[in-house]
Amino acid sequence: MVAWSHIIGVDIAMVEGGPAQIVMQFGPCPDGCVAYASFPSGGSPGQSITIDRAYDSQSDAMKQAFVTHELGHTLGLRHTDLVPNNESTSGAFRVGYTPDYDPASIMNHAVGAGNSILSPRDSTAARRLYPVTLQNVQVTGYPTALAWDPVPGVVRYDIYYRYFEYTYDQDGTPSTQENILSVGSTTGTTFYHGESYTGNASCDTEYYVIGVFPDGPVTIKGWSGPVAVCP
Ligand SMILES: [Zn+2]
Repeated sequence: MVAWSHIIGVDIAMVEGGPAQIVMQFGPCPDGCVAYASFPSGGSPGQSITIDRAYDSQSDAMKQAFVTHELGHTLGLRHTDLVPNNESTSGAFRVGYTPDYDPASIMNHAVGAGNSILSPRDSTAARRLYPVTLQNVQVTGYPTALAWDPVPGVVRYDIYYRYFEYTYDQDGTPSTQENILSVGSTTGTTFYHGESYTGNASCDTEYYVIGVFPDGPVTIKGWSGPVAVCP
């Protein structure tokens, strides 16, 4: 369980206790498989993992690898090698910044000595599917100073400014246009935004900060909350 819970920048917490969202049980696995799990549904993780006791003689390390693999299914991960393994690709998609083939992935259909722990790209997949939220994005002053809580593993923060423009067509029908401006990047956890945007609506504006990990961008986001609220 700790394998999936301890990835930096990932909002997964697997703990023992009840009422359980994921129940592990013993039972027969069809066609000689070791174990099987259900996929997530309705916003909850897959509800069960069924382990065949025919594999009781496996080493503890292999049992741990099997369960880690099945827990990956309860998080919604399919087999990394489902195409070469001739599995149905229905409903599957490749997670961004992960390769088509990863021999080290614990989510290959067969778990063994070479892939008994999470590969770096397994962590990437979890990070992109279950990102933590950047906390405590604070805005002070005008022009604006921003600050936020650091997130371990993030190598860069990109700062964006969002504002709305309100226009009226010939009939007086209002329309709202959302604009998002990139205003800069920093490796620290503070940013000074010295510009102001005249001519735009000065209410309902908001900053957001995206943390970038070395293995792919757009993984965590935090909103400042409105800088000024429209009346
Ligand atoms: Zn599997």
